[in-house]
Amino acid sequence: MELQNKILETAQTTTAKKIWLSSPHMGGNEERYVKEAFDTNWVAPLGPNVNGFEEDIVHFTDCGYAAALNSGTAAIHLALTLLGVGEGDLVLCQSFTFSASANPIRYLGAIPVFIDSEEETWNMCPKAMESAIIACQTGKIAEDFPNLGLAAAGKKPKAIIVVDLYGMPAKLLDIKTIADKYGIPVIEDAAEAIGSSLNGKHCGTFGEIGIYSFNGNKIITTSGGGALVSGNENYVKKARYLSTQAREDAPHYEHTEIGYNYRLSNICAGIGRGQMEVISERVKQRRSNFSYYRAALDQIPGIKFLNEPEGYFSNRWLTTLTIDPQLTEGISRETIRLALAEMNIESRPLWKPMHLQPVFQAFPYYGHEVASKLFDDGLCLPSGSNLSKNDLDLIIKLIANKFSFK
Ligand SMILES: *Cc1c(COP(=O)(O)O)cnc(C)c1O
Repeated sequence: MELQNKILETAQTTTAKKIWLSSPHMGGNEERYVKEAFDTNWVAPLGPNVNGFEEDIVHFTDCGYAAALNSGTAAIHLALTLLGVGEGDLVLCQSFTFSASANPIRYLGAIPVFIDSEEETWNMCPKAMESAIIACQTGKIAEDFPNLGLAAAGKKPKAIIVVDLYGMPAKLLDIKTIADKYGIPVIEDAAEAIGSSLNGKHCGTFGEIGIYSFNGNKIITTSGGGALVSGNENYVKKARYLSTQAREDAPHYEHTEIGYNYRLSNICAGIGRGQMEVISERVKQRRSNFSYYRAALDQIPGIKFLNEPEGYFSNRWLTTLTIDPQLTEGISRETIRLALAEMNIESRPLWKPMHLQPVFQAFPYYGHEVASKLFDDGLCLPSGSNLSKNDLDLIIKLIANKFSFK
């Protein structure tokens, strides 16, 4: 056992191959689509790969309509714009997420109201969300957060941004029911959750508008890219128009609205078409990483994995776990993270909640610090679909070694 560990560790240090958290994994046909774009000179933010990639997304997720864009962040910015969000509007946003979920709220001069997570999916807590809606509508939010100088008259939030973090679907049915009761549109940030589903319905399709990301670290990538999807064709048509500088139908350049340069290029869309051919395989591989880690580490007291509630299917974009140092004689997620880093293995704390970020600290937050506890105790393990069994075994061994109790 000791000898075997030594051999594994030596192998890792001598080759010094970095094991990444989540690195791109090409399927094989990406270059063919990109070459086609070159051969036909469609090297533009327009062309057959863009259309083909949009069709692939619609076909795979059953989302209705899709607009391919140059990032997931751009998709959220356009989604908020389509819903009429502007200066001084209130937008509810899951606190436990990557900053790109919330930044576009500020691009528009709107006010984010951050909502805590629940423990079953780690996503937006429907109860905390409803309390926040009521606080906004009654004007109580002005008393709760006097620093903002909000009107005490109160107003209805303009939109809700819910996230399917690490690929786990949020409590989307409860959230949609509450949102509908108050007549507030939902944007589903499924940047990390293409291939995930709830009761067989794909993540990204539960709200009025959904978004995906194809950034380099996501489950599939276009090197950089995103999509805005909706069952409402008008939203998607308008997103295409706004993402190409809001050009009117005229021989000259005529503009009646402020536009953006947010369309995906035909080259990047070519990569996306190749990736869509292997997406189901990638989901299988990521889920298999998760099961492998869980089977090996679940018995260690203090380590917990997030299980799928009934009807939930996660793409397991990243394998995450929490470590309760009170149950591990002080071994924390930092102990593990640093031990892995020493071996050139990248792991990361869970997302730091937005309401704790210096840039968003002044904005309202409703909840009971579930997300901040996850941030304290949680770790993302290397989760790429291109990890070898040797990589996984090494990581597991390094973690388990820290827990071999004296
Ligand atoms: C990656 C990500 C985004 C942003 O997507 P980009 O394509 O990188 O702009 C938004 N939200 C979440 C939750 C993400 O993980």
